[in-house]
Amino acid sequence: MLSAETAGAVLRVDLDALVANYRIIQQQVAPAAVAGVVKANGYGLGASIVARTLAQAGCRHFFVAHLGEAETLKPDLSPDAELYILNGLLPGAEMDCAAIGAMPVLNSIDQIARWSAQARRAGRPLPAAIQVDSGMARLGLPPEEVDMLMARPELLDGIDIRLVMSHLACADEPDAACNARQYEAFERLTAHFPGVPRSLDNSGGSFLPRGHYDVVRAGIALYGGAPQGKPNPMQPVVALEAKILQLRTVPAGAGVGYGMSHICPRETQVATIAVGYADGWPRHLSSRGATYIKGARAPIIGRVSMDSITIDVTDVPDILLYPGAPVELIGPNQSIDDVAADAGTISYEILTQLGDRYAREYKGGVAAVAGGIAA
Ligand SMILES: *Cc1c(COP(=O)(O)O)cnc(C)c1O
Repeated sequence: MLSAETAGAVLRVDLDALVANYRIIQQQVAPAAVAGVVKANGYGLGASIVARTLAQAGCRHFFVAHLGEAETLKPDLSPDAELYILNGLLPGAEMDCAAIGAMPVLNSIDQIARWSAQARRAGRPLPAAIQVDSGMARLGLPPEEVDMLMARPELLDGIDIRLVMSHLACADEPDAACNARQYEAFERLTAHFPGVPRSLDNSGGSFLPRGHYDVVRAGIALYGGAPQGKPNPMQPVVALEAKILQLRTVPAGAGVGYGMSHICPRETQVATIAVGYADGWPRHLSSRGATYIKGARAPIIGRVSMDSITIDVTDVPDILLYPGAPVELIGPNQSIDDVAADAGTISYEILTQLGDRYAREYKGGVAAVAGGIAA
């Protein structure tokens, strides 16, 4: 069993901050409802506990990517919650999808036809969302297929359309011209579905200065990531703290780690800490970025190993340096967006790669009821 004592690092998840972020987005998009996007195990934080906490805060719509994710999550949701599968309906998945009561996001005429056939077999209407492609060219019916569908409305027989949606390519860039183009395309395409609730915005889209339709699909902002660069209005949800394994002082000119890629320019005190790329700490952070010890910066030196990283603690007060001492990797001095910037990636990738070797501590939300033990 992983505990703070047995693991090399502790991942702390603040579920009260998650709820605070949910409220911030609610205020931002009112009167639209905020759906929780909990794909990829709730962006690495635990889909079940995240979804249950959001449900307690009033959230009624949830999105995952895969049927398997829906299957795992469904028992944790109340029967009236709407659980959507973003990646749609793969051939052969119709029966399972209907059986668990999840709603596929139908992304093509073919998927619509197969869901309609499933409804016929089941002898009852089956709920679903329909996605139109407003210009991102990833998933959803392109405009020609929407026209085709309008010419053959019987294709929709038996489908209870709960939502018509699309996804923005540039929502995190408020000035990008494609936002207005996609908005116009969405208006045009959804006019064919009068009375059906509409959903266009993700986290970034929720902060664009215009209306937000009926439902927004919030992911990264719920988890504390910046929806649109700086400043970030969200509260931090995640903290990651590793332990010092060993300390040594090496002379100027000594090499550190694999490939001796770092040569110490001065006599250097080196601490080895218990997080590596197998824990989701990007190998791209070799000799890039830093850690913090009680606010003192300790740069990463040398390559990130599978299970450890070496840091330069020469300028950190000695009293803070001992085997087992805590080192901040994500926390008040360094956000997930800071780490992502150093690694040349996005906060989404940092979060979703967080490893399963951490002791995980949940605070607030439904963890307050469960006594902090949860997964
Ligand atoms: C992942 C995803 C979201 C959530 O996006 P964030 O930027 O994390 O808010 C919303 N909609 C779709 C279709 C997605 O794939």
